[in-house]
Amino acid sequence: MLVNSKKMLKEAKKNKKAVFQFNINNLEWTRYILEECDKLKVPVILGVSEGAIKYMGGYNVVAALCYSLISDLNIKTDVCLHLDHGSSLESCKMAIAAGFNSVMIDGSSLPFDENVELVKEVVSLAKNQDVAVEAEIGSMGSIGSNGLKIGTNTTLEACVNFVTETGIDSVAASVGTVHGIYKGELNIDYKLIKSLADELLVPLVLHGGSGLSNETLKKCVESGITKININSDIQESWSLEVKKYLQENPDVIDPRKIIGSGKEAIKNVVASKININN
Ligand SMILES: [Zn+2]
Repeated sequence: MLVNSKKMLKEAKKNKKAVFQFNINNLEWTRYILEECDKLKVPVILGVSEGAIKYMGGYNVVAALCYSLISDLNIKTDVCLHLDHGSSLESCKMAIAAGFNSVMIDGSSLPFDENVELVKEVVSLAKNQDVAVEAEIGSMGSIGSNGLKIGTNTTLEACVNFVTETGIDSVAASVGTVHGIYKGELNIDYKLIKSLADELLVPLVLHGGSGLSNETLKKCVESGITKININSDIQESWSLEVKKYLQENPDVIDPRKIIGSGKEAIKNVVASKININN
């Protein structure tokens, strides 16, 4: 069933467990993640970036895809369709109109006051529509073709003010992780996570969960993280498997076989991450 993420995150926070957001790119991605989470009987958040929405054809396409897969595959577990890193009020509006259950508005590059103003507008838009709002404070680092860009962690005081002033349902606070797959030891501020989790009533979101070992993820959850976003880990595992398949089967032209050769890789990442709750 499609639901907003408020209840699943509240319960997870209470039980010191993690809810995972897995980002989707296409029909197969969505299907494999849904099937695996349904099999394991865990709630899931399907994250969709603006880039992925554009790639798939638009907000309505993504919503119709998710709603239809849940119905036709008889998916019983709770699913939340979430806009990841919404860049404007306009994109949040389009997501909500299409049937998304949750939106993230990312004003983290703005000065504090402007970020608060933007987030407040989204919160008032979502409030009457049963849609959850996530927002970000601090600046996340990232790793990509341009190398590593170091972020700046938020502070306890700024984050508490941010949550109080905006009325958001969950907060993505920079605590030392980076977007993309960072190979090496990250400087995660577990103390900051703990003080944020103790001080805030809303669940804490960890962006950039990819590239972190399950041990590290566990430590984050023990410190107070409730939602973990995973994107690159799945992309990496899927593409390794597909490349291997193509090398071994150079004559195959059936796209179903090519794309589908990464099915188990996607399902394995999903299952392995969820397993940190056990
Ligand atoms: Zn993110």
